[in-house]
Amino acid sequence: MSKRFIVEEKNITLQEESVLVRGEEVHHINVLRYKIGDKVYINNYEIKIERINKEELEGKIIGNLPEKGIPNVDITLIQAYLKSDKMDYVVQKAVELGVKSIKPVMSKNTIVKLDSKDRIKKVERLNKIAKEAVEQCGRTDSVMVENIEELSKVDLNIYEAILVCHEKSSVSLKDTLLKVKDKTKIAVIVGPEGGLDDAEVDKILQNTNVNEISLGERILRAETASLNILSIIGYEFS
Ligand code: SAH
Repeated sequence: MSKRFIVEEKNITLQEESVLVRGEEVHHINVLRYKIGDKVYINNYEIKIERINKEELEGKIIGNLPEKGIPNVDITLIQAYLKSDKMDYVVQKAVELGVKSIKPVMSKNTIVKLDSKDRIKKVERLNKIAKEAVEQCGRTDSVMVENIEELSKVDLNIYEAILVCHEKSSVSLKDTLLKVKDKTKIAVIVGPEGGLDDAEVDKILQNTNVNEISLGERILRAETASLNILSIIGYEFS
């Protein structure tokens, strides 16, 4: 299969039967020495390159990318921001495990403190990691890392069901998954290194679509918990 390049919508102009591409991906395609007549995927269009220079590339649409690796349930991971490269790791693995979007949040016990400028830079970086993971694992949809906001401010009503992973919970994961089996838009909340605050969890549980769940008696690191629950949901909805 020809190599796929994921290009931001603002850098693509769809013409009658061709695609005009600008931006950093054109540089990447040049570096890889693609030339006129070569075939590549630009997002989900298969194109044959007709014109290429340093700034832009134009190609005739000759087909579409067959869908692959698209999860059959829309999962959002609401992840309390983690220290150093753990957040990068969670984003990369969550993409491979079929998450649809990732919402980094600041919770009561989040260790990392980020001002608004930091948050913008961090989200840009995490979206780059997500894009690379989408390309690496060959899924043909895209994954969005959303803007960082306070957990208490997240609108939980946009999800049909929410699973709050809480190490103090004794609610059976198996029973809860049976309850949400028919849902198509689910969010999973995982806390920071210091865990979710009990009052925080109680407040979230006031939403009718929220279920707290235990991942077992062992206390998992946040990054382990996220991958654990995403793997289980992936299996359950397979
Ligand atoms: N408070 C604990 C660990 C928090 S782990 C401590 O300080 O050691 C970070 C997050 O992982 C938790 O907020 C929770 O979302 C999730 N988590 C870890 N172990 C879990 C378990 N056994 N059941 C449910 N969630 C768990």
